[in-house]
Amino acid sequence: MPDSPAQQGNADSQTKASDRHFVCRRCGACCRWPGIIRLTAEDVRQISQFLHLTEEVFLDTMTELSPERTGLILKDDQSSPCRFLGDGNLCLIQDVKPRQCRDFPEKWDVPQEFRRLCQGEWIEEARHA
Ligand code: SF4
Ligand code: SF4
Repeated sequence: MPDSPAQQGNADSQTKASDRHFVCRRCGACCRWPGIIRLTAEDVRQISQFLHLTEEVFLDTMTELSPERTGLILKDDQSSPCRFLGDGNLCLIQDVKPRQCRDFPEKWDVPQEFRRLCQGEWIEEARHA
């Protein structure tokens, strides 16, 4: 999952003006895009708990400072695009995946070239009077 090419924060217009919602097909394409995965304090708490690790061990072994040194990111383990991308494109920490991943693509402004790779779809909900 990239930090870029998609930047968070300015795609809310996709959801505010309609009753559309996104259905992910779990193709794993976004997990393979180059970039970094930022972690919130809540991400750290939930993921370490899910992995049965202390937060200290999780922080020491699986995280590092972001390039601009303002926060934590998931450390690249060099073995796959994301250390938590498992067989069949399944996220091994699906239930507690980072906020950045959970917000994709609804809260992202995804460039067209990457949008084409995504196999998910926006579903239009019928409005009830
Ligand atoms: S944490 Fe899970 S959803 Fe996020 S990039 Fe990695 S495999 Fe994909
Ligand atoms: S369908 Fe889109 S959001 Fe879901 S895993 Fe594939 S690229 Fe990511």
